[in-house]
Amino acid sequence: MRTYSIVLLPGDGIGPEVTAVARAAMESVAALSGFALKFSEHAFGGASIDRFGEPLTAETLRACQASDAIFLGAVGGPKWDKAASRPEAGLLGLRKALQVYSNLRPVSVHPALAGKSPLRAELVAGVDMLIVRELTGGIYFGARQKREDYASDECAYSRAEIERVAHIAFQQARLRRGKLMSVDKANVLETSRLWRRVVSEMGARTYPDIELGHMYVDAAAMHLLRDPASFDVVLTENMFGDILSDEASMLPGSIGLLGSASLGDTRPGVFEPIHGSAPDIAGQDEANPFGAIESVAQLFEAGLGETEAAARLRAAVGAMHEAGDWTGDLGGTLTCSEAGIRLIQHLERQP
Ligand code: ATP
Ligand code: MG
Repeated sequence: MRTYSIVLLPGDGIGPEVTAVARAAMESVAALSGFALKFSEHAFGGASIDRFGEPLTAETLRACQASDAIFLGAVGGPKWDKAASRPEAGLLGLRKALQVYSNLRPVSVHPALAGKSPLRAELVAGVDMLIVRELTGGIYFGARQKREDYASDECAYSRAEIERVAHIAFQQARLRRGKLMSVDKANVLETSRLWRRVVSEMGARTYPDIELGHMYVDAAAMHLLRDPASFDVVLTENMFGDILSDEASMLPGSIGLLGSASLGDTRPGVFEPIHGSAPDIAGQDEANPFGAIESVAQLFEAGLGETEAAARLRAAVGAMHEAGDWTGDLGGTLTCSEAGIRLIQHLERQP
């Protein structure tokens, strides 16, 4: 039987709560789809600082590198705000070590959720976009300077860094509606001028079948709210992608709904809900586990090539939306763990 090894990094706050649901869902879908999963669980982020004094130990990193896919809950929390090492440093370290340079964040609005968005239902109906964010370059990884009354952060990109993430975005556009919007600030920034030139050349040379557009990030922030359904694939650099994807997460009505895949050229990828550790609701079994479940669907699809398993899972989530089987953030009555049990019932009921 096909067997995959999965590393679970539950992390902090609501991370362990949604990871428990994700694991149960993975086991159920694997059994239904005819493959086997071998799990190993490791402390990560704040939980790892508490046990080992650092957010990502060498042993955990080795286990991650030897796995087929990594599922991550969430890291961080106020407990470690003044700690010598930061939980988030573990996350950046993991991404860099695994060279997962592209972060894929699908944003879609199930019809049953259209009334949950802060935007009017008719605006969000039909939203189905994929944000592709560059994840291992740009200003988050540039040189920093800090003096008493002066500070600077360097933003740098090479052609090779732009090309590899742009290839992912163009290829995703081919699998979807054939449209790619590249977002930059080419009227001001040199990195953005290079970004636009490289992406345009690739579009003309290698992907003439893709309808390629360019937009400044400020305009993109506006259009995301004015006409969100017009976007198919959005490609952008690290910081712009961070900001725009949080903005886009409000389209379906809860940050708890969205998942992400961080991919490099080889396995393993890292799959995690886009929400944080949500310290305000941690330990109360209140978290919405759908973002974690969507991340599992991406783990099956992009991480393992098990497309049918991903489809099973997404169908079960769709059935839950139709039934109004929701957690409190969406106005439902289910706890996090109850939502997990309900999901498995929907999975097992499928033809
Ligand atoms: P981080 O810095 O780790 O991204 P954050 O403070 O920016 O953390 P979150 O931890 O994602 O953001 O929390 C933002 C808000 O969304 C909080 O009020 C939290 O309770 C809520 N929230 C986050 N995730 C979920 C979820 N899965 N279900 C319900 N509510 C959630
Ligand atoms: Mg955040």
